[in-house]
Amino acid sequence: MDYLVQASYFAAAVLFIYGLKKMSSPSHARKGIVWAGVGMVIATLATYFHPSIHGFEKMILITIAMGLGGYLAWSSGKKVAMTDMPQMVALYNGLGGGAAALIAAVELIRQENMSQIVQILAVIGALIGTMAFSGSLVAYAKLQGIMRKTLRFPGQQLVNGITFLVTVILGLMIAFGGSDYSMFVLFVFFLLSLLFGAMMAVPIGGADMPVVISLFNALTGLAVGFEGYVLANPAMMIAGIVVGSAGTLLTQLMAKAMNRPISNVLFSNFGEASGEAQEVTGSMKEIEASDAAVMMAFAEKVIIVPGYGMAVAQAQHKIWELVKQLQERGVTVKFAIHPVAGRMPGHMNVLLAEAGVPYDIIYDLDEINEEFPTTDVTLVIGANDVVNPAARTDPNSPIHGMPILNADKSKNVIVIKRGKGKGFSGIENHLFFADNTRMLYGDAQQVANDLVSDIKEI
Ligand code: NDP
Repeated sequence: MDYLVQASYFAAAVLFIYGLKKMSSPSHARKGIVWAGVGMVIATLATYFHPSIHGFEKMILITIAMGLGGYLAWSSGKKVAMTDMPQMVALYNGLGGGAAALIAAVELIRQENMSQIVQILAVIGALIGTMAFSGSLVAYAKLQGIMRKTLRFPGQQLVNGITFLVTVILGLMIAFGGSDYSMFVLFVFFLLSLLFGAMMAVPIGGADMPVVISLFNALTGLAVGFEGYVLANPAMMIAGIVVGSAGTLLTQLMAKAMNRPISNVLFSNFGEASGEAQEVTGSMKEIEASDAAVMMAFAEKVIIVPGYGMAVAQAQHKIWELVKQLQERGVTVKFAIHPVAGRMPGHMNVLLAEAGVPYDIIYDLDEINEEFPTTDVTLVIGANDVVNPAARTDPNSPIHGMPILNADKSKNVIVIKRGKGKGFSGIENHLFFADNTRMLYGDAQQVANDLVSDIKEI
């Protein structure tokens, strides 16, 4: 039986990796999720037959826990709006870290047959799993609007540093203390790990939160991997390592896209401007949909920059209709995607794929930024921070240094948004006041609809 269980774990691990590989492109990402899900089902079912799960009560308890968790995840997953997905990810990820930490707690309390290496790994997994749990809950509370303020006070980093140091010392006492450490030390160790995770996340606000969520995600993966070693469970080990390494890569990519070194993420002193932000000059100039339609219909090249507002309005289908209209008139149309446009990595790619936009007209920031100066019209749809030139020009801007799509360098810019609402980082956008920019006010889906009708009539 043990042989069969191990073979099932191996099959599950292969499916996790295969699923992840499939997720590398929006065209087969859904299939990837299904394959990884099949792997998870196999791993879960195999666990029922694991030699350590003897006794009917254990099986009943596992089934009740899975039923309860499955029901809560299914019902909340079905209800959640696409725009609330980041906080959902933060929440689920936090629970994963918490589960890994609980495994460590049980093993450290039982202290049964733990070799030195297992004891060390259990402690490391406990530390990072607990941190990921409390940090992710804070990230969830912030994105959900439950926690509105960022808590900052003088000497915060010193307090964080001391908390971490004491936690590590307690961790070392537990890891190398054989079976001599007291339950009190264990309790304080977990309490301080919880506190440190939360303290890491509380000072961070605004546009830097996605990097933090991704970082906690990577930490959860590592914690699961370590606890997989503690339980001698290869499926957990491989799944954890896969999540840990994929999460680390994603964190690096996002940090690069936002120009925030990961060290800043760890020491949570970023997203702050040192002085007064540059005054915005000029005024916002409005344009009617019919005039915007003429500008695009007679252009040679149009670049579309979608952002969070397109997701809110669910305007991707109408935008694709608009693109087809323009293409029929011989206009070259390309989509420019910023790595952190929207509210989750790949948000825009997923929406465009859902609308059926072919991948060969979708370009990443690095691929398309050179093309803006030769573009007749850039159509910005519900994007704001990702096209804010202050990131390039204002050293005092909170987003200074973040690479942006250089929409302002194109010959004409049309911005679709509902009003004067700010972007995620809460700062004014200099692009909207530029001489070559015209504002087309309204809900993105409604405006796209108007543009389609107007172009048909030209
Ligand atoms: P922003 O959040 O900066 O701006 C979105 C704009 O869309 C707003 O200015 C809003 O203006 C407009 N808008 C909202 N609803 C509608 C609607 N129905 N129709 C038309 N316009 C609408 O979006 P970006 O995509 O430019 O930038 C993403 C930001 O989110 C970055 O700061 C990034 O760091 C952050 N972030 C990214 C994550 C990721 O992983 N991608 C995760 C979490 C945060 P108005 O109200 O006037 O309509």
